[in-house]
Parts: sequence; structure tokens; C-alpha cells
Amino acid sequence: MNRRPEAEVQKAILEFAAHYGLLGLMTALPTTPSFMDYEAVYLPKNHFIKEESMETEDYLALFYPFDSLDVVKKGVESNWNISGDRTMIALAMTFCHEPTAKSMSFQREYAEPYDWVAQQFKDWAFTLATSILYYEDYGSTDEETRNLYRKGMAAFGGIAPSYHIELLDKPTIYWDFHSLLLGIQMMFSFMLVDDAKPLRLCKHCHKAFLSNRANAAFCSARCKNQYNVYKTRAKSREDKENG
Ligand SMILES: [Zn+2]
Repeated sequence: MNRRPEAEVQKAILEFAAHYGLLGLMTALPTTPSFMDYEAVYLPKNHFIKEESMETEDYLALFYPFDSLDVVKKGVESNWNISGDRTMIALAMTFCHEPTAKSMSFQREYAEPYDWVAQQFKDWAFTLATSILYYEDYGSTDEETRNLYRKGMAAFGGIAPSYHIELLDKPTIYWDFHSLLLGIQMMFSFMLVDDAKPLRLCKHCHKAFLSNRANAAFCSARCKNQYNVYKTRAKSREDKENG
């Protein structure tokens, strides 16, 4: 949230992508990850693309800026040719029961605009901060400010992933996350509202942490002590200045 130098942010994001992969924005943004089965791509409100619908080829071009895939789109029919690259053929076969676009987003050529990925992380940070500050500052804010918080929070949300039920040891809900983004977003949302172990922000080091009680303010005893030491020092300085 603009607290760290840009170079540091960029390094962290590149490390994230190297460890976990890209967010899967291509399948996460449209109304359905199966958008290849339709004539055009339909986009609910999001932070990255203003158009409500796009020609499939124009939409794909956003995610294949270097080498485009060999895809031919005619109405609802599409034809994707992957002969020639064995690894990519194997990948596509692994995902053959998944939406075509999901396989496409695992191809080498797939890319995501850095600014979009960075923006997504900032949105999550903003949401986390809002959900905590709203309650922390509740006593000292007026109704107008609280409304801003509520509006900021209402803008967060997304397309719910679909699910089905699998007959494992017992009937089990199986979420169909077609992108890393939806997986993170949903787990993040559950963590935000969790009573037993909520996601919190440390008042001292500003890092996110999982707490085992609802209103914990510090990630560690160390941060709590340091915060109190600084506060006491600032207080005694203030007292001195005021004579
Ligand atoms: Zn801390």
C-alpha cells in the first residue's frame, strides 16, 4: 500500500510468481472460465478492464502479448492447435476435462500485466486494512467516514467459484477454482471473517498475521513491547516539551 519502495514490491511480486505461478487473471475476470465456449467474453465490474464485453481474440491478446497461441475462433466454435510442444500437449491433456482457457493459461506463452498483479495485491491489502480499521476506529469516526469504509469494503468481492460434491470417504464439497486468484480470494475472505483465527495487521510492523483471538493487535510479544517502548518515549518527550 505504497509503504515500500517500488523495487522492493517488484521483487516480492516476482518471487511470489516464481513460487506460486501467475494469478490466472484470464480465467478469473470473465463471467465464466469457460468463455472459449461462447461467442464473446463477458466481464463483470473489475479493476482492470472497463469494457463489459470483448471479442474473444482481443481478450486473449491481453494475455499473450509476446507469442500468441494458435487459436482460431468462429462464433461459439474454437480451435486450438498445440502440436509441436510435447510438454504443453501433456499439460493440455492433464486439464482436458477443465475449461479450455484454464489449459491455455498454463501455456508458456501466457502472461499477465505486472501492474494488474500488483494492483490485485494492493486491493487485498486495502481490504484487510479496511476490515480492521473500521472496528478499531469505530469510536472515533463519524458516520460519513464509516460509510466510506463500508463502500470500500463492498467494492471487494468477486465471482464465486463453482463447486461440485465428490464422493470421497464421505460426501465432500469440491471447489472448482480455475485460477489461483479465486482460490486466494476465497480463502482470504474466510480468514477475514473467521472468529477463532482471524487475519490481522500488526500495529507495530504492519505485517499480516493469523491471530488466535479476535482483537489481537500485535503479531508477537516483541512487537507489542517495542510499540509500547516507542509510545512511552514519545509520551515523555511530549511531556518534556510541554514543560
Ligand atoms: Zn509485528
